[in-house]
Amino acid sequence: MTQGTQTKPVDLFVIGGGINGCGIARDAAGRGLSVTLAEMDDLASATSSASTKLFHGGLRYLEYFEVRLVQEALEEREVLLKAMPHISWPMRFVLPYHKDMRFESETPTSRVLSRVMPWMKGRRPAWLIRLGLFLYDTLGGRKILPATRTLSLKGTPEGAPLQDRFEKAFEYSDCWIEDSRLVALNARDAEARGATILTRMQVAHATREGDLWRVETKDMESGAEATHYARMLVNAGGPWVGRIIHDTIDLPSTEGVRLVRGSHIVTRKLYDHDKCYFFQGEDGRIIFAIPYERDFTLIGTTDADHEDPSQKPVCTEAERDYLIAFANRYFAKAISAADVVWSYSGVRPLYDDGASSATAATRDYTLKVNATGGAPVLNVFGGKITTYRRLAESALEKIGEHLPLAKGPWTAGVPLAGGDFPVAGFDALVRETQAAYPFLDGTWARRLVRAYGIEAKDILGPATQAEDLGRAFGATLTEAEVTWLMDREYARRAEDVVWRRSKLGLRLSAEEIAALDAWMTGRHDRKDSRADAAE
Ligand SMILES: Cc1cc2nc3c(=O)[nH]c(=O)nc-3n(C[C@H](O)[C@H](O)[C@H](O)COP(=O)(O)OP(=O)(O)OC[C@H]3O[C@@H](n4cnc5c(N)ncnc54)[C@H](O)[C@@H]3O)c2cc1C
Repeated sequence: MTQGTQTKPVDLFVIGGGINGCGIARDAAGRGLSVTLAEMDDLASATSSASTKLFHGGLRYLEYFEVRLVQEALEEREVLLKAMPHISWPMRFVLPYHKDMRFESETPTSRVLSRVMPWMKGRRPAWLIRLGLFLYDTLGGRKILPATRTLSLKGTPEGAPLQDRFEKAFEYSDCWIEDSRLVALNARDAEARGATILTRMQVAHATREGDLWRVETKDMESGAEATHYARMLVNAGGPWVGRIIHDTIDLPSTEGVRLVRGSHIVTRKLYDHDKCYFFQGEDGRIIFAIPYERDFTLIGTTDADHEDPSQKPVCTEAERDYLIAFANRYFAKAISAADVVWSYSGVRPLYDDGASSATAATRDYTLKVNATGGAPVLNVFGGKITTYRRLAESALEKIGEHLPLAKGPWTAGVPLAGGDFPVAGFDALVRETQAAYPFLDGTWARRLVRAYGIEAKDILGPATQAEDLGRAFGATLTEAEVTWLMDREYARRAEDVVWRRSKLGLRLSAEEIAALDAWMTGRHDRKDSRADAAE
């Protein structure tokens, strides 16, 4: 089936609707470029919904001397927090200290230390962690986030869930981010600034025709094919970046991507306070335990090489058991596989810097333009959720060498939809929303304000009782919210809503999710047939 040809070329065609593709599309549209973005599945369906969900500097990267990356990420935390105080919030991290903590043998810091202090035998000393945290506190121009402090674990709420052998901890700041909502909101902002966002649209092939790219797309639902033209291509395919280079656009490139799988498990809530734990292992790795979705605890992650991007990453039994055993070296009350209610897994598309272990491979991003033989293409390797906005700015710098930009960098501090309120104003906004809609209980109001910020009231509209919000799908999910997600945030199937735009999948039964899917499919089909009739 052929859908047709978009003969008028756009300036930029972006392949991939993860955080990097959507961040670049937003920045480019805001600088006056015409932009089309194609995502072959749902937005954030790959790595960008499977992260640990932290805007963080990455304390452990300091051991690899990745100072540029850490500094940029630390500086970004507060810039991003201010632009999205609904989907991002400050968190405190408790790092219990014990003398058995060891480095990964690969880290440059461990190599230096074992030369000058061989008696340490790979141990990670407390003074070194304190030094790292001092750098962490000072490198990033922190204004909102509180500083590092030392904490006793004896008789404190932070010590209560841990084994007695832990007596002392360091506590420092980073931020939480709802990763998949971040992607959808960037896509919305890009569209509001003129971009076209196509989801469930695969880029099957792209070839150079002189100064233009001819891009062939395939609608993954209807099978319809279409041709687009663009002056420049951005390959933000995440784990598929290498495959796109070699198969989809046929570039003679030697750049490599290293795919490193990371898995998380979700358990019932393991402790009562709202801080996270940063656990160091005896293998040099670290994991987090994080309060999650009010009633749960998130534990992760692993690092395992992953060969094929098309092979859906899943948390293997071995990874689950590794995370359980790791956490059990800290928690007083041991957890078991029976406590795991959900798991997820994602693939980090890291630039292949030749590091020997998956843990050691660089987390920094690399942008490469290929303009030999016609229209240019920008390939995006690596990156973190935390640095997506800075990555987009660097991408625009490179794009600007080929296309005229109407203005310079503009995204710092510009709020995403729903986020135009002060960082300290979240609780007041929840109270305001509840006062305007007294039928919402505290948990429901909080959930809506966390997800939609000041737009929560646009979803609730003139409702005066829960029944006014239409069909109830369970766990406070209503027709009004699902309709909003379908019409404004590109949701198409139940899983887009219950595992990405929200995490209500943790609370809904399989039957409830199936009923939601049937309802969404019916609504989508009815909309399609109305559009066909109007043509
Ligand atoms: C386990 C784990 C934990 C992490 N934790 C953190 C963290 O706490 N903080 C942090 O800052 N970073 C974290 N990261 C890193 C961060 O998640 C990634 O760097 C980021 O999500 C990568 O985004 P992306 O847009 O490059 O890739 P993706 O999100 O994978 O997006 C690429 C998209 O391209 C699409 N695509 C591919 N081929 C085609 C095609 N031919 N046509 C159309 N579409 C196509 C895919 O469907 C996909 O949606 C973590 C990563 C992992 C794996």
